[in-house]
Amino acid sequence: MIVLDVAVPVPLNKTFHYLPPEYANPENVVGRRVKIPFGKRILTGYAAAYLDIEKNSSLKLKQIIEVIDEEVLINDETRKLADYMSKNYICSLGEAYASIIPVSMKSSKRISKKTKDAFEISDKRHVLNACQRNAVSVINADLDKNSCSVFLVHGVTASGKTEVYINAMEYALNQDKNAITLIPEISLTPQFLDVMTKRFGSNIGVWHSGITNVEKYKLFHKAKTGEIKIMLGARSAIFAPFKKLGVIIIDEEHEHTYKQEQKPSYDAREIAKWRGKYHNAVVVLGSATPSLETYKDALENKIGLIELRERVDKKELPEVKIISLKERLFKTSLLLPETVDAISKALARKEQIIVFLNRRGYSPAIMCKKCGSVYQCPKCSISMVFHRNPDLAKCHYCGETKYLPLTCSVCKSRELAVFGTGTQKVEDELKRLFKNAKIFRLDGDTASNKKSYANAYNGVKNEEYDILLGTQMIAKGFDFPRVSLACVIDADTSLYLPGFKSVERTFQLITQVAGRSGRGNVKGSVIVQTNNPYHYAIEHAKNHDFLSFYNVEIEHRRKLLYPPFCNIAKIVVRNKNEQKVDEDSENLLSYLKNLCNSYFIDLKLLGPVPAYIAKLNNTHRRHIIIKGEREKILHLARFVESFKQSFGSFIGIEIMPSELL
Ligand SMILES: [Zn+2]
Ligand SMILES: [Zn+2]
Repeated sequence: MIVLDVAVPVPLNKTFHYLPPEYANPENVVGRRVKIPFGKRILTGYAAAYLDIEKNSSLKLKQIIEVIDEEVLINDETRKLADYMSKNYICSLGEAYASIIPVSMKSSKRISKKTKDAFEISDKRHVLNACQRNAVSVINADLDKNSCSVFLVHGVTASGKTEVYINAMEYALNQDKNAITLIPEISLTPQFLDVMTKRFGSNIGVWHSGITNVEKYKLFHKAKTGEIKIMLGARSAIFAPFKKLGVIIIDEEHEHTYKQEQKPSYDAREIAKWRGKYHNAVVVLGSATPSLETYKDALENKIGLIELRERVDKKELPEVKIISLKERLFKTSLLLPETVDAISKALARKEQIIVFLNRRGYSPAIMCKKCGSVYQCPKCSISMVFHRNPDLAKCHYCGETKYLPLTCSVCKSRELAVFGTGTQKVEDELKRLFKNAKIFRLDGDTASNKKSYANAYNGVKNEEYDILLGTQMIAKGFDFPRVSLACVIDADTSLYLPGFKSVERTFQLITQVAGRSGRGNVKGSVIVQTNNPYHYAIEHAKNHDFLSFYNVEIEHRRKLLYPPFCNIAKIVVRNKNEQKVDEDSENLLSYLKNLCNSYFIDLKLLGPVPAYIAKLNNTHRRHIIIKGEREKILHLARFVESFKQSFGSFIGIEIMPSELL
């Protein structure tokens, strides 16, 4: 009896047998998505294989309701990749397929046939400097060899990494291969698309969370048939089903956005390396501030290292001035006189300014002046943020929105005040101080769709705006030649978060923001306001000294046994009931301890501890951390996966989380 082996996107570590529909040959079902009855639901499954099994009269198999796709979507690579993901990120095969193949139910029937236009390359090329030429020739040599290799392109800001990427892509396309380029932030899409379209015309697909499922499905199809040659996009663009991948580029490889937190908790960098091996492709990881993990790999020759030490055209790196916020905290304004002075001088010279503050809203705290209690989100253990126009209190974690309270919930005093500064407040201050300056604010509140990113990019590029103000959306990658001043309003927002990457993040953010300044013909400068002017992350960022920062930070990691010196898994225990979550996490820990004592003596267990935001959306959260070797962690995680259903609490496992918060 011929049955289809169907992977279903549910957290059960097995596949399921179904009979083919009456009208279809099993060969016309395999490799396609199918609609199946599953319990009381109808789900989309992935018919990965067909099997000839012994007929068993007691076995009542259900039948596939419908075959969704005409064409085969699951090929040899997809099968192997799903298997890899299932094993390395502890998810079912069905959950892995669901990440690789877009979920749109739309059939592929209506999609246009492949057009056979040869791709045109325009001759808008830049003259490369010696460093860039070297980088390109090293990468192209490996493209010629048809062997898999991984490179870190470590280049200071404005060293022309993008031009290196473009040349590598062009070389790959000339060999009739395809390219994937990942960018960490949706706000960078217009700029990359602009640069790439000038060189590759319409051969580019753009993939990010802002496009619909139907659009995703169309792009998936176009990549599969070769109708597009390049996929540009966020993390999940790594799955673009090109038949012959030549080069995969991951720009700003250190960004945590390349790691998916939800199941399957894959890392796009690891998937890139896997696909690189499968296709014999070149993987290029680019950054001015590489992650410690990647840089260590490069120093140990596990991956190639290409250094771009100079800015293009020998432009100088901007001068960074550190200004202490100490003793000035309770002044009304977060814009210190030196900063205001620098902004007004840059405006007078008709240059542009970037103002960075990683905190949206007007003020991050609403506090009672009498008893000091802070207005907290009723559903989360975090303070509500005051927003203007309209005046509301919002929770940045669960989205809860409330009118401002009239009285303190603790002492009933009416004397409430807002404290601290967010981007809205900075915008108000900038408008008040510089009445004629045109300001664009880009943060989670103003960036509602892909149009806002294009407006920000084009508006600043065409010099319609004098000041670009925003959160981390504006910190990285932007290339505006008229920006001569970058201001970091509060460098400490990430410094003392209780995670092992907080210091690294702070160094990266300051370096990245500083890197936006002085990229064109005007000399750049940078102002960093901080309470910690002598912190090593801030001092080394001031001196553009990645290596010194790396040397200090890597020692901390070694001493405290954090990545890259060990692998980590984070087990999250969640429950609406606080007592239950504590009980279950304690019980889980003792199970794990027993397992470790018997089988995995080298693994270290930490916790359970409340998550940084211990209550989120009325759900209490506890963490248990496992440290040790990857294979052993995966082994233990599989145990947890197999018995976790017996707990009343939700239990999730994230392999190699980008943070432990
Ligand atoms: Zn009070
Ligand atoms: Zn909340």
